[in-house]
Amino acid sequence: MDRFGPAQRSQIMRRVRAQNTTPERAIAHQLRELGLAYRMHVRALPGKPDFVLPEDHVAIFVHGCFWHQHTGCDRAARPQSNKAFWNRKLDRNIARDRAHARTLRSLGWRVMTVWECRMPTADSLLRRICRTVGGNPSRG
Ligand SMILES: [Zn+2]
Repeated sequence: MDRFGPAQRSQIMRRVRAQNTTPERAIAHQLRELGLAYRMHVRALPGKPDFVLPEDHVAIFVHGCFWHQHTGCDRAARPQSNKAFWNRKLDRNIARDRAHARTLRSLGWRVMTVWECRMPTADSLLRRICRTVGGNPSRG
């Protein structure tokens, strides 16, 4: 028997998820596990990348599939009502993401996107970073 009622339980679970298992927290945890030095939410760079590996000039965006319109993903399905509104809004998000990535690259950054529906394990995150860097990333 759950000693909390359903409403209270769902509130607790929501809080647990919000604090411990958001995609960003998972990536932060993995980067620490991999011993990679990172900065979060770097306002000084276009698009305020969620993570930056400063030594290797890697910017990592952790994107929600809906808001950032993950191509071919079920979670990116567009709402059937208020279509004009949503199309405008979501198209603008896509254009903005592309512009940020382009500007970052022109500034010498390598850009990686992690989609929430495909959260990597620490191993696969490291493999992707190695591919992006073209070698091993600098440690701490
Ligand atoms: Zn997705």
